[in-house]
Amino acid sequence: MDFIDDKKELIRAKALELGFDACGFAIAERVDEDAMVQYLSWIENGKNDCMDYAAKYMPLRNDPRELFPGAKTMICAAMNYFPAVKQPKNAPQFSYYAYGKDYHNVVRNRLKLLARFIKDNWGADSRACVDTAPVREKYWARKAGIGMIGRNNMLIIPGKGSYFFLGELITELEISPDAPCTLTCGDCNECVDRCPGGALAEKGSLDARRCLSCQLIENRSTLPAWVGAVAGKQVYGCDECQKCCPHNKNAQHTDIPEFTPDEKMLSLTLDDIILMTDVRFKELFGKSAVKRVKLEGLKRNAQIIAKEFKK
Ligand code: SF4
Ligand code: SF4
Repeated sequence: MDFIDDKKELIRAKALELGFDACGFAIAERVDEDAMVQYLSWIENGKNDCMDYAAKYMPLRNDPRELFPGAKTMICAAMNYFPAVKQPKNAPQFSYYAYGKDYHNVVRNRLKLLARFIKDNWGADSRACVDTAPVREKYWARKAGIGMIGRNNMLIIPGKGSYFFLGELITELEISPDAPCTLTCGDCNECVDRCPGGALAEKGSLDARRCLSCQLIENRSTLPAWVGAVAGKQVYGCDECQKCCPHNKNAQHTDIPEFTPDEKMLSLTLDDIILMTDVRFKELFGKSAVKRVKLEGLKRNAQIIAKEFKK
């Protein structure tokens, strides 16, 4: 092992000590031509509907050095959020990622500790990103060897599954890259077949216009009629394309305390949501990713799934 790899393994070990489940390294450079063309065509075909932000800041999205001048390395890290305790099946369902505290803060705080470790040991500066800057995070995680991008558009870590938050440190420290992950979904088509909105019908490409999760969370106006017809008891997000994925069969539960759901959230009923006050919403979701949908949006979603609770 040469000097550079020593440095890399020290950083990887520190990331694991900080609660990350995987950590990989890639050269901070321009995104591959193929990946840029694929992304552009996704935007041009309008498949980013509900996610206007995905079409912004393309020069930054295409090259992390635009985000952090002097960047040499992308350090990609993944943190498990798969909850040990789930909501009762007859409750209005929230996506697992939203069970605990807002991941932006939880993951960023730990990335900042990793950045401090790098600064203290090698004097290099880094920028932490957790969905907070236009970074192609799954692209980089695959390139850094953490895992593959599945047909469900999730980053899948071999042997661990896809219930992971991703975060990146763009650093000016030069570190030798890991080998990119070359695994694929092979012949599996499970998530494409099981997606309630048909959002994955074209293999490997998410059509946000047909994604229940995008509609329930990102759509700020009246929901299309098909959403109510397929939402079942989902009031916030959708995990169907992860629940059915064979890679998640043996998913381990997270041990990050911030991702443990509050009993009050687990026991929420549909009426609790429909009658919820601003004060109660803030108390329950003020520090959760659910705040993104706002009380108004959560109530709208509760209304459209109400028929499921009368059956
Ligand atoms: S989150 Fe749900 S609706 Fe969206 S792609 Fe996955 S299964 Fe389909
Ligand atoms: S369900 Fe199958 S096709 Fe979909 S992401 Fe998982 S392995 Fe890939």
